Amino acid sequence: MNPLIIIGTGLAGYTLAREWRKLDTTTPLHLLTADDGSFYSKPMLSNALNGKKTAQQLATKSAMQMAQELNAEITPHASISAIDAAQRSITVNGRSMAYSSLVLALGADPIRLPLQGDGADAVMSVNDLGDYARFRAALEGKQHVAILGAGLIGCEFANDLLAAGYRVDIVDPGDRPLSTLLPAEASAQLQNALGELGVSWHFGTKAEKVERTENGLRLTLSDGSALDADVVLSAIGLRARTALAASAALDIKRGIVVDDQLKCSADGVYALGDCAEAQGKVLPFVMPLMQQARTLAKVLSGTAAELAYPVMPVVVKTPACPLVVCPPAPGTSGSWQVERTEQGVRGRFVGDAGNLCGFALTGTHTAEKNALAQQIGV
Ligand code: FAD
Repeated sequence: MNPLIIIGTGLAGYTLAREWRKLDTTTPLHLLTADDGSFYSKPMLSNALNGKKTAQQLATKSAMQMAQELNAEITPHASISAIDAAQRSITVNGRSMAYSSLVLALGADPIRLPLQGDGADAVMSVNDLGDYARFRAALEGKQHVAILGAGLIGCEFANDLLAAGYRVDIVDPGDRPLSTLLPAEASAQLQNALGELGVSWHFGTKAEKVERTENGLRLTLSDGSALDADVVLSAIGLRARTALAASAALDIKRGIVVDDQLKCSADGVYALGDCAEAQGKVLPFVMPLMQQARTLAKVLSGTAAELAYPVMPVVVKTPACPLVVCPPAPGTSGSWQVERTEQGVRGRFVGDAGNLCGFALTGTHTAEKNALAQQIGV
């Protein structure tokens, strides 16, 4: 029998494999990946520096251990050049491999800013274990990091770097941190908390040029100011990896388009995780991919199932300002109603009909996460 093939061994690929093996212990399973196939929890990447964790320590299981656990074959460092959906085969390292079903769990690439200057290629991003190892090596003996982007990942790295003793500047064209997710009052609290730890904020401007200097890197910002740093980390967002799917003429929008059974536009091909666009949304977080994996595992084992997301709050890993956010669905009509207390901020996004559609909690109010989550949609 041809195997189920999963391309990608991030949280999406491995979670699906685990869920599917609960339902089907015998059908052959083959995972292929461009990396070394180690299992790790990607959210750890933005809070591991202060704990002095190496990339090897974050990799909790090798590909070989995962292969044993999943009763699967795993091919690391695989180069997949083509998908032939009609023939149900892929080309791997120049050889054709047949599948019964194919799952794309390819993740997303960091968006690269079009920067000028001879230091542009030194700008780093951290989206996998290899990136983390390189980032850690670049920080060795250094003190000062400039972060591009005051979003969730940028703020998490800032908190971790500050706790580990580094100086941090953050540059963002917006006017406050997490401006697309939070009401202004919650942003202000995060901004103050990270500011007290030592972040220098540069809002309303963006990096245009990075040049190498004798001592490190110099950023030129769009407001004309200059900023020196030893290391520059870009955290401006991700773009779904769609090239392989596009080469097989699968439907692509912001991600690889899938239906409620996680099926792509070709029979026998499925997608999930950061590369997939389900229900019109690319949701690059762990909870959505878990939900997708459970649904797809059922579909692949022949049980009827349909993707349905529960309320999915995101815990932001900024210990300087504990923060949970459950943003309203894009386009929801309503407004933030915000209370400031001594314990923090309680923001409720209330829809035009008076129903709770989202929330943002800081400080000890984060303990109200589950109670508020239950009220959403009621
Ligand atoms: P990935 O983990 O990127 O896996 C993609 C896999 O595909 C890899 O194995 C790769 O080698 C393989 N691959 C790609 N292209 C090819 C190819 N052509 N051929 C073969 N193999 C290929 N989410 C949360 O919910 N909470 C958090 O606190 C949180 N923190 C985060 C912190 C950081 C720093 C980052 C970067 C993300 C964070 N996220 C968080 C997001 C979350 O980690 C991701 O949504 C999730 O890990 C994505 O998993 P994935 O398997 O879809 O992609």
